[in-house]
Amino acid sequence: MANICVYCSSSSQINNGFTPVARTLGAGLAERNHTLVYGGGTSGLMGVVARTVRDRGSSVVGVIPEKLQSIEGVASDTADELIVTETMSERKRIMYLRADAFVVLPGGFGTLEEFLEVLTLRQLAYHERPVVIVNHNGFYDSLLGFFEELYAQHFARTPHDDLVFVADSSDAALSHLDVALQTPAPTPRE
Ligand code: AMP
Repeated sequence: MANICVYCSSSSQINNGFTPVARTLGAGLAERNHTLVYGGGTSGLMGVVARTVRDRGSSVVGVIPEKLQSIEGVASDTADELIVTETMSERKRIMYLRADAFVVLPGGFGTLEEFLEVLTLRQLAYHERPVVIVNHNGFYDSLLGFFEELYAQHFARTPHDDLVFVADSSDAALSHLDVALQTPAPTPRE
């Protein structure tokens, strides 16, 4: 039983092929009785994960800025706990502090921004919690290739695979967490 923060797309325009990735993750989280911590919206993959976790009887914590409630939808009937923040940074901070681990599904700029922050904070040893990226059908291949380039040219001080586990499916991400969460990381210092 852990609090798993999921970053993923808020877009409702993406190909339906991504829906099972979010559904499988949600089902696996619920099966393990994990609590989902997420951005609180109902749109896109965010909504799919949250509805799946909730429908299968596990808890959902949604954190959404006031301004985005009309854009991303409000999961008042999906979240067991809905936290409405004033700002995006406050939202991100609460999600970060509440999480025991982070899972990144396919997403856009928002997902990337959140992912890069937890990756950077891990590189700087602000936390040691597991970070898993679901590279469904190679969705993140170009980004991961760029990370390799950053390391090869010494722009990154740690190879990305020391900081993030690359899973090729949601099931692989869940199996990784099963092991990684057995040794709980210390709670964040700030
Ligand atoms: P996207 O991947 O662009 O669909 O965005 C996924 C989620 O990330 C959405 O809920 C966005 O509102 C959220 N997001 C984008 N930027 C930030 C940020 N700076 N802090 C917190 N959440 C963000």
